[in-house]
Amino acid sequence: MKCAICQETLGETFLEKVKGTIIRKPGASKPYTICNNCQKKFKSKEEMLNGIK
Ligand SMILES: [Zn+2]
Repeated sequence: MKCAICQETLGETFLEKVKGTIIRKPGASKPYTICNNCQKKFKSKEEMLNGIK
């Protein structure tokens, strides 16, 4: 799993829970994983979506 914004590899906990958040573009089924650092950088979901390459 990689962060969709900074391409950093995300760590996973022993429960295979990704350390980050998962967001989806409206109308798209593909989920994007966002790391905790990028969550702090972008204040809203819209800004995170704009940051995805
Ligand atoms: Zn990131």
